[in-house]
Amino acid sequence: MKVLVINCGSSSLKYQVLDMTGEHLLAKGLVERIGIEGSIITHEKIGGEEKFKLTTPMKDHKDAIGHVLDALVHEEHGVLKSMSEIGGVGHRVVHAGEKYASSVLITKDVIQALEECSDLAPLHNPPNLLGISACRELMPDTPMIAVFDTAFHQTMPSESYIYALPYEYYKKYGIRRYGFHGTSHKYVAERAADILNVNIDDLKIITCHLGNGASMAAIKRGKCIDTSMGFTPLEGLVMGTRSGDIDSAIVNYIMEKEGLSSSELNDILNKKSGVLGISGISSDFRDIGLAAEEGNERALLALKIFAHRVRFYIGGYIAEMNGVDAIVFTAGVGENDISMRDIICNDLGNLGIKLDLVKNKVRGKEMIISRDDSKVKILLIPTNEELMIARDTYEIIKNKI
Ligand code: ADP
Repeated sequence: MKVLVINCGSSSLKYQVLDMTGEHLLAKGLVERIGIEGSIITHEKIGGEEKFKLTTPMKDHKDAIGHVLDALVHEEHGVLKSMSEIGGVGHRVVHAGEKYASSVLITKDVIQALEECSDLAPLHNPPNLLGISACRELMPDTPMIAVFDTAFHQTMPSESYIYALPYEYYKKYGIRRYGFHGTSHKYVAERAADILNVNIDDLKIITCHLGNGASMAAIKRGKCIDTSMGFTPLEGLVMGTRSGDIDSAIVNYIMEKEGLSSSELNDILNKKSGVLGISGISSDFRDIGLAAEEGNERALLALKIFAHRVRFYIGGYIAEMNGVDAIVFTAGVGENDISMRDIICNDLGNLGIKLDLVKNKVRGKEMIISRDDSKVKILLIPTNEELMIARDTYEIIKNKI
């Protein structure tokens, strides 16, 4: 069966087509500037020659998906004879609240439940839903599956997800920790168990998804028991532009001092903080790394603070799980930033965590990077959320339909 994976943002859309017999990627692409002047699709046939690019007006997500479908069946750069070859579509959906703890077949009821969750993820769920309704219009007979960022974290015990606020806010508004990047945490944890050749039920794993958005998870016997992102993706680690954990009293203090509205402050916490805010240089760790090498003190400070927070969570999760067998690094920074992995793992020998500085000199490749005498295995595993979405889509369709 061939599966189309769709990840819809407000003005962009990423897609992949996979053949699930052997899990081969056939094509992938990106549509940008949906609903804005200069809409463009960039399509790549795997093993093909050049990428195909087309700039053409696309007023909405339905137009964009129409162009994706055209590209997929195109004579030269297409990978399908007709769209009927697609057995299912997997949609990434950010927030399922407490409603779904695993992926589901999309029905009218599911769409209604997700619309009700939109309040919790106003930036993400509405474009995800636009993608779903556009696909349903264009491919009315193809089953569709929703795969949620929050689902994997639904196994957390209440002491991990309830905030110390009046309990009624949890009941009235659903204010609790949900966690995000769940598809990625689940994928790398399962890969780690495969690579180590140990049943995941016998492992305690800490996964570090360190990208522009960053989060960590404590995974005991394959189940998430804690994660660093919270009610929104703002909580937890320091990120590219997000503050992560701060004393919440700072919010009111800055609003009063600077005369800012709550939405202006929200913007600062989400878009102007993190390593960008500390360094004043960039949200990209490559730029900050270069500046730090040239002696820029705030750049160095940003990197140190980022690492400090990751180490803080590693310690916390070791306590929560009474130990750890494997630590996994993934996403842009986790997969590529050799020096950041080094700073994070430095001087943790008493916890049985010893990075091999030679093996660590690797980027974007599955590899065990701990020393042979390290009790805790450290792994680098490139994430693959699309494959995970395709797998869930394939499994649900195979079993239910
Ligand atoms: P997201 O999906 O959250 O947007 P990614 O997982 O794609 O983020 O990570 C993007 C980030 O990864 C970049 O902003 C950059 O900071 C970091 N990154 C990518 N390549 C490197 C590299 N070679 N060295 C250091 N950092 C890198």
